[in-house]
Amino acid sequence: MTFSARHLLGIEPLHPVEITTILDLADKYVDLNRQPNKHGDALRGLTQINMFFENSTRTQASFELAGKRLGADVMNMAMQASSIKKGETLIDTALTLNAMHPDLLVVRHPHSGAVDLLAQKVNCAVLNAGDGKHEHPTQALLDALTIRRAKGRLHRLNIAICGDISHSRVARSNLILLGKMENRVRLVGPPTLMPSGIGEFGVEVYEDMAEGLKDVDVVMMLRLQRERMDGGFIPSEREYYHRYGLDAEKLAHAKPDAIVMHPGPMNRGVEIDGDIADDINRSVIQEQVEMGVAVRMAAMDLLARNLRAPKDEGVYV
Ligand code: ASP
Repeated sequence: MTFSARHLLGIEPLHPVEITTILDLADKYVDLNRQPNKHGDALRGLTQINMFFENSTRTQASFELAGKRLGADVMNMAMQASSIKKGETLIDTALTLNAMHPDLLVVRHPHSGAVDLLAQKVNCAVLNAGDGKHEHPTQALLDALTIRRAKGRLHRLNIAICGDISHSRVARSNLILLGKMENRVRLVGPPTLMPSGIGEFGVEVYEDMAEGLKDVDVVMMLRLQRERMDGGFIPSEREYYHRYGLDAEKLAHAKPDAIVMHPGPMNRGVEIDGDIADDINRSVIQEQVEMGVAVRMAAMDLLARNLRAPKDEGVYV
């Protein structure tokens, strides 16, 4: 199997075989991460810089841990307090960092496309840790690994992605990945939170949770992304919870063994009921966090192998 990418900017450019390659290697890293000694050496000698221009808890911690477990020197740039505040452009910041010879640059940015632009200006591998409403590839990969381990396969599943679809890079990356792996994806949410023209993309769109969740294998909930809303997209959080918040009654429409997912951070009592989120028989939210570290180890390992490989040759694993 090959993985020939130089960067991980999105799910869009990945071939299903490359997705499977990342997930297979991530499975091995899950095993390593469960050992008392969690150290590998795939990134030994390499420098990883994390640049987060937007707040993050899970993703930044996960990338940091992933790099450290594989032996990289990891540096977290405090972008809120950086020269950006003094007026430096994204490209100047990137070129400055590039001159310090990093090998892996992990970037989160509030603007869609910013990470792609940056990748064109530097000569290290760039990983997109979320850009605006565009993509969040490692989230979709960790979700895919969680589903594959829980369901024993990653194809021919009925999957409902629910809530604030239009502001969500998680929904977008998942939609692309799950489609590439031949699953049936449904989008469920109010029309105000659905991207316009989405029906043309071959997905089923539902406004009603009971109908949308009927017989699905996976229920993926999304956070209401208030920071990306500039008007009244929902009447009130109370009303939203009533119609779209996942509780036991709505979940009863899914298959009896359906799993519940959420990328975090969760708004309990808004898009999900706290008891459902904590129900270890249904919720795989903690597994998603665990898979996140393993997937990021795998992605950085594969990109690092390509850094070392002669130009235009992907690695064979
Ligand atoms: N943590 C995810 C993201 O960065 C989901 C969210 O924030 O709701 O997109």
